[in-house]
Amino acid sequence: MRITIKIGSNVLTRPDGSLDVTRMSAIVDQIASLRQAGHEIILVSSGAVASGRSELRHIQHDLDSVDQRQLFSAVGQAKLINRYFELFREYSISVGQVLTTKENFSDTEHRKNQENCMRVMLENGVLPIVNENDTVSITELMFTDNDELSGLIARMTQSQMLIILSNIDGIYTGNPSDPESRLISIVKPGKSLDEYIQPSKSSAGRGGMQSKSSVAQLTAAAGISVIIANGKRNDILLNLMNDRDNTPCTEFLC
Ligand code: GLU
Repeated sequence: MRITIKIGSNVLTRPDGSLDVTRMSAIVDQIASLRQAGHEIILVSSGAVASGRSELRHIQHDLDSVDQRQLFSAVGQAKLINRYFELFREYSISVGQVLTTKENFSDTEHRKNQENCMRVMLENGVLPIVNENDTVSITELMFTDNDELSGLIARMTQSQMLIILSNIDGIYTGNPSDPESRLISIVKPGKSLDEYIQPSKSSAGRGGMQSKSSVAQLTAAAGISVIIANGKRNDILLNLMNDRDNTPCTEFLC
């Protein structure tokens, strides 16, 4: 199966904002197992801005938000991809960095180039690690968040499945901290979740449940099954693939 896996900033960062290399390493171990089992993986990883921010703690004070985003992502993306490169190398898996912008999904020529780049990497067994090119995509040129980007990548690469890893088990019928709320495990095609979605969003990333849910619905409507699950849970990817019925998650059927 070809699977696009999106990892949110909150999965990859510790509460103090630093890069959680132990978690990254555990996710890399699982992706290596999935590849070993014959799956093709495309990774969409956030975490550039968060890891750059923690690297440059000493100079973040008087920068405006655009300058911060450009500076932190420039430094943080280098740090992030370097870690992935080293971790996957332990498994002799070659990775390639794909930094993209919204234009690459609309303009025909750019789209073709982007598609070709993904194709050639996959055909040669190179694992693409995709992120938005945060250094140049600013305000209206930006994706809503990496959830949107992961849906577009899943469709472009004709993935059969999109897994969105966040720091929560999935979509709940109410506030997740309310004991009355329950996790919605299956969402049938066309079922609206508007009444359940909390407007709040995670601290490190740009996305929230609202955007995850609408990306999931759109992607499922395109024939790709989508799972939202908790990337902080040990062995989450392996459990989703091998024992989904007993693994907390929200699955959007297509
Ligand atoms: N591209 C951003 C980063 O790597 C994350 C965007 C998002 O939070 O979805 O930091």
